[in-house]
Amino acid sequence: MKLVMKFGGTSVGSGINIRRVAGLVTEYAKDNKIVVVVSALAGVTNSLIETSYHAQKSDEKHIQTFTANLLTKHTDAIKEAITSKAIQKEVIDITVKSIAELEKILTGICYISELTPKSKDYVMSFGERLSAPIVWGAIKDHNVQAQWFTGKDAGIVTDSNFGDADPLMNYTSHLVRERLSPLLEKGIIPIVTGFIAANQDGIVTTVGRGGSDYTSTILGVALQADEVWIWTDVDGIMTTDPKIVPSAKMLPQLSYQEATEMAIFGAKAMHPRALGPVSKANIPVRIRNTANPKNHGTLITKEPQSGVTEAAKAVAIIKDVAMLNVYGAAMVGAPGSYAKVFEVLGRNGINVMMISAAASEANISLIIKRDLLGRAISSLEIALQEHGGIISEVTTEDDVAVIAIIGANMKGTLGVASKIFSTVAKKGINIHMIAQGSSELNISFVVKEKDGVAVVQTIHEEFNLDKI
Ligand code: ADP
Ligand code: ASP
Ligand code: MG
Repeated sequence: MKLVMKFGGTSVGSGINIRRVAGLVTEYAKDNKIVVVVSALAGVTNSLIETSYHAQKSDEKHIQTFTANLLTKHTDAIKEAITSKAIQKEVIDITVKSIAELEKILTGICYISELTPKSKDYVMSFGERLSAPIVWGAIKDHNVQAQWFTGKDAGIVTDSNFGDADPLMNYTSHLVRERLSPLLEKGIIPIVTGFIAANQDGIVTTVGRGGSDYTSTILGVALQADEVWIWTDVDGIMTTDPKIVPSAKMLPQLSYQEATEMAIFGAKAMHPRALGPVSKANIPVRIRNTANPKNHGTLITKEPQSGVTEAAKAVAIIKDVAMLNVYGAAMVGAPGSYAKVFEVLGRNGINVMMISAAASEANISLIIKRDLLGRAISSLEIALQEHGGIISEVTTEDDVAVIAIIGANMKGTLGVASKIFSTVAKKGINIHMIAQGSSELNISFVVKEKDGVAVVQTIHEEFNLDKI
């Protein structure tokens, strides 16, 4: 089989784990053609972002401490993951060079006190640029031929939406095939950095947080792989986050649609757009556990699992969101007034995750990412001044969370919503907003963030999700 295998941050979080990854890859490579996609070592992307903000505030001292720690972290991993001294040296040389380049960039940001989405992408790209060579070295350590690439060098070309770019799929497929297929034919394993790519001008872009998943499906489609395997630190996609409900069960099979809903609604198990390319090409995706390779994980295909009749399959929580309530008596019956609100938000790059409108039309409530709240309020306020009358007031709640219940069989099943809401009411928890996607694959609602975990636990229990 031709397989793209992606290893997440936790799977490459330490030298020991990287050895395990190299073991898995070389084992599967005996009978299959494998392309490997790697994330940054766990925690590194977050620390790069944090340091770029320090740099923007001209905190030069922080940069040096950070790069020194980064070098130690990676050299420790190299020494643990690779036994051959020669290969160790080769990888350390690459690491030292990359970190020197990163230090220059951070210092540049420091001097001009300016961090743009473009320069932030460049900084973030170093996480994967540092991890991929270690995985490469660990695979070579097994006497298996491998070659590492940045996403850009592998041929992934995206639009210029820095921080959340999308691939130009036709062009990417052409380049990726040209560059990686000859290696696969020769039995050489390509190792590609996840998350990072480049725009048409060759400037580094990233495809959104958790984006290595997306990289793996992009490569899967480009190379017409038989399957894409996403290796992580849990057995597969579960009925809810096992960190919230330890008895959560693994779901053996999900449809692309169900898994996408789960990814959108905070099942961190996957990047929300990752299934776009593969669902069109009908390439199955598996989520598997690096620490438990005997388990076959969750298989994601076109059809939901047959024989499963339960309406609800999973419950997810998205934190870090905020609710915007837009009021305006003049919205009632005024054609295009909703469109105006969405146009203003869209123009300012604010993605609306959930919408609910009162029948009176005098108000709409929207859920957006919490860190975009300031931008949303200010842009609506400007619009309010320009188009006085339509919007009279904007209020916000920034301490909320979205809870989503997902399952393909909810379509047409009576009473699911009432069961959900009475369960929440019994706990004495107030629901602030409700929405149901037209696909009827999910019902989502908003509660105060402090109540979120309790709501997930009680719904998981009430719907017997651990008995699925
Ligand atoms: P990786 O580093 O492999 O990309 P992530 O941290 O992005 O891993 O995603 C895996 C984590 O997602 C798990 O450790 C788990 O806590 C969390 N998670 C949240 N919801 C779910 C779910 N429904 N099923 C599985 N994992 C989930
Ligand atoms: N390293 C990136 C992130 O933390 C991409 C990924 O891990 O998938 O978002
Ligand atoms: Mg992830």
